Amino acid sequence: MSNQLKKVYLANPRGFCAGVKYAISFVENVQKNFPDEQIYVRREIVHNRRVVKEMEEKGIKFVQEIDEVPENSIVIFSAHGVSPEVIEKAKSRKIKIGDATCPLVTRVHRKAKKLKDTHQIIYIGHKGHDEAIGTMGEAEMYLVETENDVEILKDIIDSSKPLTYLMQTTLSIIDTQKIVTKISEIFPFVENPDKGDICYATTERQEAVNEMINSIDAMLVIGSENSSNTLRLFQLASKNKSSSFKVSSAEELIKESLENKGISVLGITAGASTPQVLVDEIIEKLKSFYPEVSVENFPDSREDKMNFKLPRELLK
Ligand code: SF4
Repeated sequence: MSNQLKKVYLANPRGFCAGVKYAISFVENVQKNFPDEQIYVRREIVHNRRVVKEMEEKGIKFVQEIDEVPENSIVIFSAHGVSPEVIEKAKSRKIKIGDATCPLVTRVHRKAKKLKDTHQIIYIGHKGHDEAIGTMGEAEMYLVETENDVEILKDIIDSSKPLTYLMQTTLSIIDTQKIVTKISEIFPFVENPDKGDICYATTERQEAVNEMINSIDAMLVIGSENSSNTLRLFQLASKNKSSSFKVSSAEELIKESLENKGISVLGITAGASTPQVLVDEIIEKLKSFYPEVSVENFPDSREDKMNFKLPRELLK
């Protein structure tokens, strides 16, 4: 086994998705338009420490809950969305709201509102994730994370009432398909939505990993520990290439561990909330370890061209 890194392939698309860019520019624009006001953001605007730190340096204050935001000030909700309860709480404290929720998450909220009085709803998602908490606040839903969780619903779901499902936008395509199949097996009367809720960015980033996987020895996935889609990319890569690994910054990259893994061709991808600067810093570090290494885009890879426009009125 060679222990010298020779080539790095960059997956495309990787890193920032349209929803993350939207949320970041939402905050930047609110700060620009209200220069004299303290801007608060509830929870991490996107799940990346570097992004949050840079905003903190520009004066943005991050809070966990609305109670920490003074009355009459400005709060921005993160890309993951919030439950109606949080919105009500903010309104009751006369707080001006900027909603930076990704439009693709908002779409799932709208579906939930539409279904809540007519259907039983299964929600495929990850317990405790901000997006899951926000969406599940719209209606009564049964959370399932695994096929086994679907089994447990056997005695709970009422077969005389309509049933459907919604899902978190950042799930593993393969694992979700298995859960959907299980739901259809156990509840043959389930109404299948025309289209699942896994977003275009999650789908394309997972496809890019799949396309590259047979051409590399291991995949390096860059992203924060609490980023759902980063973890899904890592799971997908490790299933096929067990030497794959994940870092959240260049400091975590250690030459010895690369050499112990015997990697000659390394693929790199990044979660949808990972800024390109982190990828650049990691490439620089790899080049400092291996000055001869070649770095190129994986052949035939594509760009993420999706773009969401900010609303004309930023605050409500
Ligand atoms: S991963 Fe998908 S749903 Fe989440 S912010 Fe990006 S585009 Fe929106």
